[in-house]
Amino acid sequence: MEKDKIQHSINKEESVITINGLYKSFGELDVLKGIDLSIYRGENIAVLGKSGSGKSVLIKIIAGLLKPDKGEVTVLGKKVTELNGKELDELRLRIGFSFQSSALYDSMDVYQNLAFPLTMNVKHLTRKQVDLAVEEALDAVGLKDKINELPADLSGGQRKRIGIARTLILKPEIMLYDEPTSGLDPITCAEINTLIIEVQQQYKTSSVIITHDLTCAKNTCDRIAMLIDGTFSKVGTFEDVLNANDDQVKKFFAYNFI
Ligand code: ADP
Ligand code: MG
Repeated sequence: MEKDKIQHSINKEESVITINGLYKSFGELDVLKGIDLSIYRGENIAVLGKSGSGKSVLIKIIAGLLKPDKGEVTVLGKKVTELNGKELDELRLRIGFSFQSSALYDSMDVYQNLAFPLTMNVKHLTRKQVDLAVEEALDAVGLKDKINELPADLSGGQRKRIGIARTLILKPEIMLYDEPTSGLDPITCAEINTLIIEVQQQYKTSSVIITHDLTCAKNTCDRIAMLIDGTFSKVGTFEDVLNANDDQVKKFFAYNFI
């Protein structure tokens, strides 16, 4: 499925993530050096940049897993960069984070991996309600038949899908994907890209997708943000960025096969 063949609505009046003047260093290493960006409701935005450019640091700050040195990020109307404790936990429940390593619990089967975040965070659910939620999330990623499998018995692509299903079980309004197609073969990459679009449509999520995969960015995202030397040197549609008159951006694209 390709982006231009599907219908979805983006509300440019409503920004679900607003990043203002964000800075982050680790000791002497200045990673983020003034990041500004708004992500609209319903939008999928790709963050591209070479390894070590600060992409994961950026989405960890958006998810409230890391605090910046300077600047602020507002997520769903709340200043995530200033929240702590219970308020931060509550906001985090509305944000799905798909980690680069699918981060499944190896000793739990698929059912338990999905039921765990739900029963941890939503009190007083009946077994029947948990079963239904697990089934719905597995259905969304097309893996209902794997409910009793252990993660070790799944393929890389299936583990990725289960990781995504585990975040969907809490019905997030925002999805953050950290390199969702890395380490997968081209066919599985294309399937994950399709899943990302299906999630956007079915769950009405807005997403930030970190990727090295230009096909993923082109097919799943409405806009692309190029992270170069600590700032977004170019933000726009895939074509805007592809045609940008910027040596660093050109270099990035030249080294990637489209
Ligand atoms: P990428 O764009 O590949 O996702 P990261 O955001 O993971 O890059 O990292 C950006 C830079 O910040 C890297 O040089 C990394 O080593 C460094 N870094 C990330 N997290 C930490 C940390 N917790 N402590 C020290 N350095 C870190
Ligand atoms: Mg990373």
